[in-house]
Amino acid sequence: MIESQPSCTDIFESGLMPCSEALDRIMARLPKISGYERIPLQNACGRTLHEPVISHINVPPHTNSAVDGYAFYAEDIPSSNTTELNVIGQALAGKQFRGSVQKGACVRIMTGAELPPGLDVVAMQEHVGVFENHIEIDSRHKRGQNIRLAGEDLKCGETVLKPGKWLTPADIGLMASLGLTEINVNRKLKVAIASTGDELCEPGDLTSPGGIYDSNRYSLIAALTRPDIEIVNLGIIPDNAEKLLDCFNQTGRFADMILSTGGVSVGEADFTKSVLQHSGQVEFWKVAIKPGRPLAFGQIDKAAFFGLPGNPVAVLVTFYYFVLPALEQMLGINGKPVAPTLKARVSENLRKKPGRTEIQRGILSRDEKGEWRVATTGKQGSGILRSMSLANAFIVLEHEAGDVKAGEWVTVQPFAGFL
Ligand code: AMP
Ligand code: MG
Repeated sequence: MIESQPSCTDIFESGLMPCSEALDRIMARLPKISGYERIPLQNACGRTLHEPVISHINVPPHTNSAVDGYAFYAEDIPSSNTTELNVIGQALAGKQFRGSVQKGACVRIMTGAELPPGLDVVAMQEHVGVFENHIEIDSRHKRGQNIRLAGEDLKCGETVLKPGKWLTPADIGLMASLGLTEINVNRKLKVAIASTGDELCEPGDLTSPGGIYDSNRYSLIAALTRPDIEIVNLGIIPDNAEKLLDCFNQTGRFADMILSTGGVSVGEADFTKSVLQHSGQVEFWKVAIKPGRPLAFGQIDKAAFFGLPGNPVAVLVTFYYFVLPALEQMLGINGKPVAPTLKARVSENLRKKPGRTEIQRGILSRDEKGEWRVATTGKQGSGILRSMSLANAFIVLEHEAGDVKAGEWVTVQPFAGFL
């Protein structure tokens, strides 16, 4: 019986598990996938590095100039007044100066050009007097100024990137600076998505009487469109236990994760959790979160299974708070920066029941004093997807919190850098 499955008790409603515990249990169950592939460097942004990258060269390979100017010996810097240095040649990026430089002479040098051996100062051209064949320098120059040392970015032999690094544009550039053209990355995570519900129609088709268009699968496909995920679109499955069982069983043989939406409550046509129980294991199915209370989590064959709620806002909220951390752990991503939260003054009274986390959709802005302010997007029903579309932040009302008064501080999770 599903009722005997582990969940959690709570003074507010029996069987509701606090969000933090639900997330801990999810994370404890989902190991990193194994397997990797070799891909061209230019396709690797947003993938996860499989093995360490060790530098086999110095970057930069040669000591070079950081500015356009003149290179000379520090010994020629006068202790007072000025001195003249003859310009005896020039060094350009990629075109080194091949002669030798005597004391009292200098070389015109451009940014990135290799420093002729022994020279140890570069003066910016704006900081010297420029004449036809010589320059005039004063006493303010210092040994080593405007010089980039060989290996000051990456030293030959050092570990530049560790396995599990989620690759950013800077990482791709860094590996290109080492001359790499292909790298090994963790394989893509195979995520299957299904919508369940007899009322659902495919956008583009005519709706049947009482029907609605399926939006959840589209939100999820959009949220999962990223370089490290392979999406398996399972379409719409009717409210039929056998069909669900069939589909989830088949998919569990090859997918890493199954996401279904709808049919996870206690209504007459809600079969998802009984199917999960029948063909897999249920870890929990009720979480103390609004929106998103019915959220089934378990395993079917090889696949982690999330039975997300049917309501469109609840789908996205549970996706970002539970599914996203889970799939990033499975992908083997280490040390991705934590999405920042901040405190903002709320512009209106908010109703909140203690004993569950509430995620309201907010519009975050700064007032004339530069303080963060947040207002809700209006009606907060979990079927009102527009509330999510209008929002630029979640307002996170913590588990124990009660009603909030206008002007109080609340925790806000900005979407920028998060979604
Ligand atoms: P359920 O959890 O199946 O009872 O669904 C809860 C609510 O979400 C119902 O109003 C459903 O019609 C709606 N719903 C379920 N699935 C979808 C979907 N894929 N797209 C849009 N709305 C949905
Ligand atoms: Mg349904």
